[in-house]
Amino acid sequence: MEIQPKKCLACGKPVRGRSDKKFCDDYCRNVYNNKAKGAHSSLIRNINNILKKNRNLLASLLSQEQETIKIEREKLSGLGFRFGYFTHQYTTKKEATYFFCYDYGYLPIDNGWFLVVKGKKLKDKDYLF
Ligand SMILES: [Zn+2]
Repeated sequence: MEIQPKKCLACGKPVRGRSDKKFCDDYCRNVYNNKAKGAHSSLIRNINNILKKNRNLLASLLSQEQETIKIEREKLSGLGFRFGYFTHQYTTKKEATYFFCYDYGYLPIDNGWFLVVKGKKLKDKDYLF
């Protein structure tokens, strides 16, 4: 049986030496690890952008006088809102769970309707409805 030499994860050249070696040398190891880090930070950047977009969209729905507004799910997603992305949740004593994107949030109500709210700043860090 012929054993295929393992290929370096960074450059693809066959790796000589111990069978558990993944890279030719430290240079290739660094190249590979830096690339992996870059992928992680762009993932984080993408998610942060979605969260910010969600937040700005919720903010744009409320005028200065309005504290809350009702909107249908289809309309909200039609505007580009991504429901899977939020920064935190807040459950009231009556067991209603608000989903927040930073300082703005929404509460799922009946039949595909949502109540959009502006969070009130309680402490330096915490935003609660
Ligand atoms: Zn290599």
